[in-house]
Amino acid sequence: MESSMFNELLKRHHEKKLAHAFLLETNDQNRCYQDVLEFIKKLNCPFEYKENCDNECNICTLIDNDNLPSLITISPEGQFIKKDQVLSMMDKFSTKPVFTKYNIYVIREAERFNSSSANTLLKFLEEPEDDILGIFITGNKENVISTIRSRCQIFSCDYNVNIAENLDEEVLTDVKLYLQAIYKNKDDIIYNKTHMSGYYKERMEWEIFFNTMLYYLKDCYTSDRLDKIEMVKEVSKSNLIKMVVLTQEILKYIKSNGNIDLILDKFVIEMRKYYE
Ligand SMILES: [Zn+2]
Repeated sequence: MESSMFNELLKRHHEKKLAHAFLLETNDQNRCYQDVLEFIKKLNCPFEYKENCDNECNICTLIDNDNLPSLITISPEGQFIKKDQVLSMMDKFSTKPVFTKYNIYVIREAERFNSSSANTLLKFLEEPEDDILGIFITGNKENVISTIRSRCQIFSCDYNVNIAENLDEEVLTDVKLYLQAIYKNKDDIIYNKTHMSGYYKERMEWEIFFNTMLYYLKDCYTSDRLDKIEMVKEVSKSNLIKMVVLTQEILKYIKSNGNIDLILDKFVIEMRKYYE
């Protein structure tokens, strides 16, 4: 659990300084959502909350089963969060919470508001009631519509991604094939077009691909891997480090929604400098 940020929120809650709406920017939206649910239990549990509240506590059980009337989670329906979803939540929260201190709505993938659903929600954000809390989760706060973003307190909630533990061997194989294929290849840009463009459908998959590359290049630098490709064996250690730095840069571009084809081209053009 990314505990420090949630501890900070709890502290503000105890000091009665909790804002009415938060935007949590995270590198793992699913984990962040699970932690948000734990946080909501801590806010509401009538007992001294501990992990897996075992006091036969109704509130925590209702949260676990997604049955607590004062907690509504909204995820995009199709491409967008729809106006109707927002209206239905606002309607339910027009009455005071019965079992808990707050009515809480959690918005997953908050970057998927359209202007109509965002405008509908604005009334809630502009005239906040003391007993309503909004928690917005996003992978990139820059993509959240500014009318919402500007009315939220923003926190970042990053998790250490231990790629070694979750290493996907297939992706690692793809990484090695790719690095070797573009190595000293004057048609490297064409290789991008013919082999890589559209290879992964989701931006998240490209993130995993380059995270795996980052892990592999770093590990080649620090250890005697048996599966070193020719390129890695031939370049100098100082250039290997530069490749690691470049891969970190590329990951930033991917996370900030850059065009994948352009990013791949940038990657091969920059890599050429390190083949001495
Ligand atoms: Zn409880």
